[in-house]
Amino acid sequence: MDWRDRSGVAPLFLILVGVLVVVVVIGGVSYVVYKDARSIVPVPPVACHCPDIPDIRNRIAEASAAAARYGQMAADIEAADATAGKPTMFGEERWKAGEAAVQVEVNAAHVQGTRSGNGRTDTACVTTVESASPCIRASLQTHENVHAASCQASKKSGRTGTYGDYKASMTMAAYWREEVAAYSEELKYLSDNLAQAMAEAGCDPVVKVETYPGREKKEDVRERLVGAWRRLSAYVSGAR
Ligand SMILES: [Zn+2]
Repeated sequence: MDWRDRSGVAPLFLILVGVLVVVVVIGGVSYVVYKDARSIVPVPPVACHCPDIPDIRNRIAEASAAAARYGQMAADIEAADATAGKPTMFGEERWKAGEAAVQVEVNAAHVQGTRSGNGRTDTACVTTVESASPCIRASLQTHENVHAASCQASKKSGRTGTYGDYKASMTMAAYWREEVAAYSEELKYLSDNLAQAMAEAGCDPVVKVETYPGREKKEDVRERLVGAWRRLSAYVSGAR
């Protein structure tokens, strides 16, 4: 093409505008789809396998520690609210302090050499999960889906707090209880997947599951996990 020939400029301009329109339309559609798809993301019932067992056990330890701490924080603030005769609403500072306290417990529970991760649900109810392990990502998504559902229900009913954050429309105790519920869903998912992974053909739980010296049979591991789950359930339902 001869660039000195101006007759070619108009068609070229039209082509460029056309390309721009196509880019904007595709971008807009994929943005909407992307946002929608990342709010509540369906999790496959089985996402973990035999080699994931150490990661699953680590996440069970982390999630149990977090759930217990959140449950304690909820109970404390419920008692304080009962004394004061009025509920404490969600507060940014109180929330951050609580999250930091839980993080200390989670770090203490972490088993060296295993893969964990993190997740969040933003004020637009969009969830993000990060982990090198697809198994742990599924577990984290199970957790975030609880927050996303609460966020969507809140927005649907017009309950939105400061800056559109659904959490700000809740009492502090209700939000800590939501965390307990999210971790409980995650623990249910993890124990189901652990049982599934351990039952896989050729999976040797003594080798794969053992993290410290001393023999531990598959049945012992299962029994211990069922015990831990029962204690947590009792705690969550307020039986303790
Ligand atoms: Zn959470």
